[in-house]
Amino acid sequence: RTVYVNGDFLPEEDARISVFDRGFLFADGVYEVSTVLEGRLIDNEAHLIRLQRSLDELKMGCPVTKDELVELQKELIRRNNLVEGGLYLQVTRGAADREFGFPRDAKPSLVMFTQVKNLINSPVAEKGLKVISVPDIRWQRRDIKSVGLLAPALAKQAAVDAGADDAWMYEDGFVTEGSSNNAYIITKAGVIVTRHLGNEILHGITRRSVLALAAENNITIEERPFTLEEAADAAEAFVTSATTFVTAVVSLDGKQIGSGKPGPLANRLRQLYIEQALKS
Ligand code: PLP
Repeated sequence: RTVYVNGDFLPEEDARISVFDRGFLFADGVYEVSTVLEGRLIDNEAHLIRLQRSLDELKMGCPVTKDELVELQKELIRRNNLVEGGLYLQVTRGAADREFGFPRDAKPSLVMFTQVKNLINSPVAEKGLKVISVPDIRWQRRDIKSVGLLAPALAKQAAVDAGADDAWMYEDGFVTEGSSNNAYIITKAGVIVTRHLGNEILHGITRRSVLALAAENNITIEERPFTLEEAADAAEAFVTSATTFVTAVVSLDGKQIGSGKPGPLANRLRQLYIEQALKS
């Protein structure tokens, strides 16, 4: 695999980052994952706008302009012949002697790599996800796509250890989001409920697209917090993210949701999302 590191396209085994890079020492960095379908980036513009927002919130620079970044992304896709999968990119504050305050002269680092994945014909999406609930122990700025991902990694591992696929995190009795996705329920009246935007969740790019598609198809949406009890009692549930699109959730803490199979509305939204992505 060819990766990109600070100006160079290199075989992954030759890529180097300083041990003093603040991404490594402080998780002082941000990232984005864009979907690639048929060799093309999906919704990439929105991902790069969110990247800039994350950078601005952390007063961090980017070593290249947005246009240069897009060219580098496309070049990396070409060099890896990536047809379907994800493109990961990360900007960190760069290398400096270890001090908590921002270094004055550090140069930000930019790293990119690709991951081959079957996104459309995903076996997990066909079966639906079993999720468990875990307390949300993350920091209070989850709207920033920070590389500090230990809490979601622990959440996901707790799910795997429990024989489930993923974890839904909750705070004050309300679901915030999944370990790496936004969380939704569909009520028995057919209303989509998902938490409103704020500092408590990541503002998902897929969330935005899927809610727009739902609105176009006259499906009612309520952006508000929902409880675990409400989720357990829902007709359907699902998650969204760049690399999972819309994926149904079929059980919560061992109790089946609805029929215990991916529900009709979740399936329809997945179909609509994929059709739109392939056309874009
Ligand atoms: N929420 C969290 C915590 C995430 O990590 C992600 C994606 O990685 C999402 C939501 C979904 O965001 P997007 O649709 O932009 O991939």
